[in-house]
Amino acid sequence: MSDRYLAFANSNAGQRLLGAIGLPTPVHLERWRAGRARPIDGALLVGGNGALSAAAAECLPRLTDQLFAAEDGLLGLPRWNAESTKLKALLFDASSLSSAEQLIALRDFFQPTLRKLATCPHVVILARPPESLKDPIAASTQRALEGFSRSLAKEIRHGGTVQLIYVGKGAEDQLEGALRFFLSPKSAYVSGQVVRLAPCAMQVKDWSRPLAGQKALITGASRGIGAAIAETLARDGAEVVLLDVPAAQADLEALAARLGGRSLTLDIVADDAAAKLIEALPDGLDILVHNAGITRDKTLANMTDPLWNSVIDVNLRAPQILTKALFDAGTLRDNSRVVLLASISGIAGNAGQTNYAASKAGLIGLAQAWAPTLGKRGISLNAVAPGFIETQMTAAIPFTIREAGRRMNAMGQGGLPQDVAETVAWLGQAGSGAMSGQVLRICGQSLLGA
Ligand code: NAD
Repeated sequence: MSDRYLAFANSNAGQRLLGAIGLPTPVHLERWRAGRARPIDGALLVGGNGALSAAAAECLPRLTDQLFAAEDGLLGLPRWNAESTKLKALLFDASSLSSAEQLIALRDFFQPTLRKLATCPHVVILARPPESLKDPIAASTQRALEGFSRSLAKEIRHGGTVQLIYVGKGAEDQLEGALRFFLSPKSAYVSGQVVRLAPCAMQVKDWSRPLAGQKALITGASRGIGAAIAETLARDGAEVVLLDVPAAQADLEALAARLGGRSLTLDIVADDAAAKLIEALPDGLDILVHNAGITRDKTLANMTDPLWNSVIDVNLRAPQILTKALFDAGTLRDNSRVVLLASISGIAGNAGQTNYAASKAGLIGLAQAWAPTLGKRGISLNAVAPGFIETQMTAAIPFTIREAGRRMNAMGQGGLPQDVAETVAWLGQAGSGAMSGQVLRICGQSLLGA
């Protein structure tokens, strides 16, 4: 669905009018385009001198050919000249900060950069997980970075993003995948997020086709976010199996044919759904994306049994049952990746969505509770929580509520199905086993549930 305010705000007349009356002007976010060679299309400035920037240094030349340091001698990089070079990306290693007074290093690094940013800049702060540190003062200092990064994400504007990555000991070799995602337009609508990387034995072999050789099943794949996920996983080299209800068969088959994949018509709440899936996937599965979902909104006072049960069954019970069945049957291969489509409704709650929010919060709980068990076979299980994404589902929301949902985030606009798809594709990578049991929001840093 088109966003007329965004289009108007970016027209000449719109810029003049909105600027004059002080209304926010959301920018057109830069997204990943096919054929792009490197994750960062411009200059990357590196700062901070902990062990993590040194660990990342090896992969940085593959991210961009314009690398600069904030201070002389750092990683042997040329010093950034603020007068001549605008910055497209910033990487600050805060892992050595261990006392309150050292936090000033954040201001010292970021302040000179803020008026020198290109449009849609991406910022990553690297740190150590506070819970891994014995010294409570050092742990508290690393925890302080959460407040800093989430606040900077709200200040950065110009379509910029800011994330904090807590890198566990032994997970340094997984930084490339995370940086390729968070420092590139693939994370255009992901901001203010905090993720944790843990050691993972798997590595992506070919960054131009990071999912090559993987078989992926996507539920609810005939349209909207599911179709975008199928396209993106196929773009990244995965062999895709597209699932949807029988009523969506024509669209599903057309998309599967275009992507060189298979289609599977199945109602995921049917009693025999698990058995049919296991039968349809005799060679197993590397990536499972539980995307199918429905809304049946009513206030609790007006909630009928069918409205309640259908949402809980499709959104929560089916992913629970199917994941367990595919795991027990061995259809989910060792080191496979499972991604659950939750929602920020499941984090913040939403009037009229007690059923939907319960189902989506349940998915987040499923990822957190089950990750340790699945991890014994190298399987990761994460949830993504989209905010307002422009699809048929959100087009059906009444106008005033839809406009509020679109604008109430740091980017002043809704996301696109592609934004969710890029995140799922990253979590589907072999090396993304470094993340499990986590929830990643794709919401332009929505004010809801913040
Ligand atoms: P959509 O309604 O456009 O697509 C959902 C798909 O799921 C449809 O193709 C539908 O046929 C399929 N489906 C529904 N019930 C099924 C069943 N029983 N068996 C098999 N397939 C079934 O929705 P969307 O906006 O693309 O959302 C996709 C997912 O993202 C959902 O889980 C949704 O809750 C979640 N989400 C969406 C948004 C948003 O803003 N659009 C926000 C947060 C979360």
